[in-house]
Amino acid sequence: MRIFTAVLATETNTFSPICVDRRAFEASLYAPPGEHPETPTLCSAPITVGRRLAAEKGFELIEGTATWADPAGLVNRLTYEGLRDEILDQLRAALPVDAVVLGLHGAMVADGYEDTEGDFLTRVRNIVGPDILVCAELDPHSHLTAKRRAAADFFVYFKEFPHTDFVDRAEDLWRIALDTLAERIKPVMSVFDCRMIDVYPTSRDPMRSFVDKIMRIEAEDPDILSISVIHGFMAGDVPEMGTKVLVVTDGKPEKGTALARELGLELFSKRGTFIMPQIDEKQAVSRALAAAVGPVVIADVWDNPGGGTAGDATVLLAELLAQGAQDTAVGTIWDPMAVQICMAAGEGAEIQLRFGAKSAPGTGNPIDGIVKVVKLVRNAEMRFGESYAPFGDAAHIRLDGIEIILNTTRAQSFDPSLFSVMGIDPTSKKILVIKSTNHFYASFAVIAAEILYCSAGTPYPNNPARTPYRRAPRDIWPMVDNPHGLP
Ligand SMILES: [Zn+2]
Repeated sequence: MRIFTAVLATETNTFSPICVDRRAFEASLYAPPGEHPETPTLCSAPITVGRRLAAEKGFELIEGTATWADPAGLVNRLTYEGLRDEILDQLRAALPVDAVVLGLHGAMVADGYEDTEGDFLTRVRNIVGPDILVCAELDPHSHLTAKRRAAADFFVYFKEFPHTDFVDRAEDLWRIALDTLAERIKPVMSVFDCRMIDVYPTSRDPMRSFVDKIMRIEAEDPDILSISVIHGFMAGDVPEMGTKVLVVTDGKPEKGTALARELGLELFSKRGTFIMPQIDEKQAVSRALAAAVGPVVIADVWDNPGGGTAGDATVLLAELLAQGAQDTAVGTIWDPMAVQICMAAGEGAEIQLRFGAKSAPGTGNPIDGIVKVVKLVRNAEMRFGESYAPFGDAAHIRLDGIEIILNTTRAQSFDPSLFSVMGIDPTSKKILVIKSTNHFYASFAVIAAEILYCSAGTPYPNNPARTPYRRAPRDIWPMVDNPHGLP
């Protein structure tokens, strides 16, 4: 038995000014066949789990290229076509195969391709023919299109957000694939369109209970092979944007359709209650200043480079300056040009500097001032779990009593070590401002007296009712109140 596997993934915020070329894929993950590391990144677990199963069960795994770019804006057309054709050529060379098991993200948009995964899967299907199993693991922050469904046998999505379960879901994907090849089961997809778009952290209710419930159904009902909630990705302005429920049954499409509808309407009934409550920048800074003890961590939740933004918004910093905050550190503001100027000036220099808010509207205004260059670090890194996340050449500057870290490689604020490597003791500060939506929580909760979730400016299209979509559907919630015509 011969099975082909490959990975082609990124998450495209079509409103982001940061375009993605081949260099961006190579900077994040680019592994030619056989060269994928032992440990998986988000979308590449089908390769590492496939290797283990191939060794255990004695089938032949043919690896294609595995590549992933960190979330940003539109993918360059030649970059997408080049990576796609590289993998398709590898698949042709591998024929005959019994199955194709892929790692995708599901929200990639390339210049000229609104549905890259639909395009890619259709070409895979055309190469292998109608009878060969084609399946993929995907990120729930994606778009489930009719074209993708038509081209593949089944999909499995991560259930958790933060995505802590990408290896577990790759195990599900492979189990269903191998059972199908052994003719023990026959997977069929049923989909319900919730006609809504929302954000669904699974670290809190109501989504925590919902995910527990669908996992119980999977465990208890042998007809149900897999249930996924495709959260949708509101920063992707594409025609099939929105939340969907996918039920994969063992040859029971009507049962799957009924269950998908029941679960989808349950989600719809809870619309607007999933996300953590947020306050604006004025409230956040006032509350932090009034707090008895620090550090108070203010998360600038929507200027998160992990969601594709530049990470250079200054709305919160401007408010800190306006309210006269002291004993405060801000990590980070992305501005390669300003870092270059600080590097030229050298540590200890006092210079006039303009920095931040150059990437897009809704991110505030550039900050001007006489700043002190306190510390410069080449190739700075912060801890991220067991490994390290780079944030590039970085400058620690001081302006009106506020310590600010400027960086050159966009990165969300995963860990307090981003401050310490720049010479700032995070535990000694009254206020820490960071850029992250959700991933920061585990490491910052350890040192924080209080955590405030702040929605500042509009660096990210986080209010779908007001986002100027050109391609996304306008007849879903919250753009309309009652898209299902329910009584
Ligand atoms: Zn995601």
